[in-house]
Parts: sequence; C-alpha cells; structure tokens
Amino acid sequence: MLQGCDVAFGSIDGYKGRDELEKTCRRFLIPLIDLGMDVRTLEGHRPRMAGQVILSIPCEACMWCMGFLDDEKMALEDQRYGDAGDNPQVIWALGHLASSAVGLFVDLLTDWTGSLRERVHLVYRGNEGTISPCRRLPYVPRECPHYPLDQIGEPRLRAV
Ligand SMILES: [Zn+2]
Repeated sequence: MLQGCDVAFGSIDGYKGRDELEKTCRRFLIPLIDLGMDVRTLEGHRPRMAGQVILSIPCEACMWCMGFLDDEKMALEDQRYGDAGDNPQVIWALGHLASSAVGLFVDLLTDWTGSLRERVHLVYRGNEGTISPCRRLPYVPRECPHYPLDQIGEPRLRAV
C-alpha cells in the first residue's frame, strides 16, 4: 500500500518500527513525516514530555543521520519504552506534533514557503510548549550513507 503513496506519515510507538517504516519509504523514494513523543521522569523531578517531527526525504539525511535513531535506542527499546508506559497518549502534545506534521505536508505539496528543500527535524518540548528546529541539524551531512540509491525499488535476490 505504501508504494502508492506520495508522502507517508509515521507515528509508530518505538524506534524499531520507525526504522522499518523509513527503510520502506526510502526504498520506494517516498518522503516520510515522522512524529512522536514520550514522557520521561528523572528521579526527583516532574515528568517531562518531549517529541519530534522529522521530515525524512530520500537522498537526504535519514533518521540515523540525524541521530534520532541509533543502536543504543534500539537496544534500550527491548527493555523499556518511556516512563509513562508503552503508549503515552497526551492529546495536547500530540495535537502540537500532528499540526506541525500537517504543516510540513502542506508545504511539501504546495511549496507555500518556497523554502522546504531538505530534511527537517523539529524538537518538541512539551513542558515548555515549544517546537523548534533541532540545534544539531545544521551539522548533519546532507547526503545519507544508510540508503544508497542502488538499493531502491523491490528487493532483489542475487545468486551466490
Ligand atoms: Zn542516513
């Protein structure tokens, strides 16, 4: 079904599912708009909500390049996901994230800002109610080594 999409939205709980969705989108050159949030509580502090909206565009930096996905998060996911349980549903936080994701989608389709030409990584700080560009993004290389162009399309079997 994804192969018929021009743009995909992802809001999957967990990192491994996000990774699989991005792999599939990259394989078929589909831009992916990922959004999600989590709640963490450090001992002695109030719970903190944080989230992200990421635009992963084929041939641009992916979620691995942006540092959103990494081996440590993948390994930790097997142990636990968030302090608010497996699927925290905080509607005002998800509303912020979903609205920002739809804004990116509309910009992709209409080019209304005239400036959306590359990957996007927005960071949501729920306790402050802010969404802002990730400060690391300017330092992320534009070219992605994780999804080379010779691996697009249907997977092919090779004789060994
Ligand atoms: Zn990459």
